[in-house]
Amino acid sequence: MRVAVIGAGLAGVTTAYELARDGHEVTVYERRSSIAAEGSFAPASVLAPGLWLAHAAVGGAGGLERMLARPAAWPWLWRRWRAARQPAHAARLACLRDLAVFSLERLQAIEAAHQLEHEHHAGVMALMRTPRHASRAQALLTKHAPLNLPARWLNADEARAAEPGISPKLPLYGALYWPAGQTANGRQFAHALRAEAVRLGVRFQFQQDVVRLTPAGGTRPQVELQAERRRDLGESSHSASSTGSTTIADEGPQTFDAVVLCSAEAASRLMAGAARPRVAWGHVHSVTAPRHVAADAGETFGPSGAVLDPAAGVTIGRMGDRLRVAGCASLGAPPSRPAPAALAHLYATLEATFPGATRTARAQPWVGRQDHLADGLPAVGRSPEKGLWLNIGHGAQAWAQAAACGRLLADQLAGRPAPFDCGALDPARLR
Ligand SMILES: Cc1cc2nc3c(=O)[nH]c(=O)nc-3n(C[C@H](O)[C@H](O)[C@H](O)COP(=O)(O)OP(=O)(O)OC[C@H]3O[C@@H](n4cnc5c(N)ncnc54)[C@H](O)[C@@H]3O)c2cc1C
Repeated sequence: MRVAVIGAGLAGVTTAYELARDGHEVTVYERRSSIAAEGSFAPASVLAPGLWLAHAAVGGAGGLERMLARPAAWPWLWRRWRAARQPAHAARLACLRDLAVFSLERLQAIEAAHQLEHEHHAGVMALMRTPRHASRAQALLTKHAPLNLPARWLNADEARAAEPGISPKLPLYGALYWPAGQTANGRQFAHALRAEAVRLGVRFQFQQDVVRLTPAGGTRPQVELQAERRRDLGESSHSASSTGSTTIADEGPQTFDAVVLCSAEAASRLMAGAARPRVAWGHVHSVTAPRHVAADAGETFGPSGAVLDPAAGVTIGRMGDRLRVAGCASLGAPPSRPAPAALAHLYATLEATFPGATRTARAQPWVGRQDHLADGLPAVGRSPEKGLWLNIGHGAQAWAQAAACGRLLADQLAGRPAPFDCGALDPARLR
């Protein structure tokens, strides 16, 4: 089949790779000049099946107060609150777990098949810094034991032994721990995977904004393009620059057998009428800085994997010789530049958790967008519009689920059964 993939973030690159592996003729259209230039540019990239336990233990997603302060966010927060109380919620949590477990397996299989090199570190820990949060976390772990989440409880001493760089002054009452969880450089992975996709014949068309999708003759979808101008996109100096293989084609409307939207929140603009999914924008800040190297072999700076402080809404992850601190999630379009107050919060949480862990003078701040669906799951599969498929709504979880979603979508397109019950991801639910 001739398949178009719209968007070359983590979701688009993994989808294009999986479709090409199945023998399809794949073209990826990306409005930026490189892959992973928007939401996938500098995320924390933490993968831990059941990470939502950590946020539930502290009473919701980090940053909820910031979101509540914006009346425009209330309708969406209401939809999310209601979704979490529907009978289908338990099935959704099981689906999220299966997605994360399958994604980890798929990532490892892809890495092994192509010897893909990218920075990644094992171990994800969520700190509980009050007795109330600690007892809630333990109760949630017990309550959700039937889900077989690969997480366990550590008391404060065990947590400090697993992550010896944690400040001795930080109040700590225990931690949720995913020994096989991981933090990684998702963008590095996406670049390595793109090279494999190109080897399989995938064509990447950069600086091509898809402006319209129309059914051609009522049977096959057509993609209408507009060559993008960099200044219109306000690309920041942190965005990846164009690579040697960047193509700026001036092609007319292109007809495909299938079009897969991996364009995050922009998907709703490209879909018409009742089929249009309600996608909420969010944005999150991150700072990437060199890790302080210890002069004394006994000294440890920063985490060995990823350490989350869900009450502060901050993740601190190791990334090779650097650390990435991410957080300050908020609903709405991202500001044009990282907000000083958000960056101050990230630096303060880092200093309180891992004092002196980085050289902040060489830090690279960033603010990136996320796309959220109200029930917290992505939409993966056939849309109500003929020939149109979706892989969107990854929220704060694209690294945790992109590899699985790319494979699931390719299997669905080929009419193969899914390896687990993923009915909760069906885009038909968005109507
Ligand atoms: C600071 C931060 C921390 C995060 N931490 C984590 C984490 O710890 N774990 C985790 O799993 N996830 C995390 N995430 C979330 C994750 O990074 C995102 O969910 C993910 O990058 C989204 O990938 P995507 O491919 O769906 O979207 P994107 O990467 O945004 O890609 C969409 C692409 O579509 C293109 N596009 C859109 N419209 C069009 C059009 N009309 N024509 C052509 N191209 C178009 C865009 O240019 C873009 O490149 C974090 C995100 C941020 C910002």
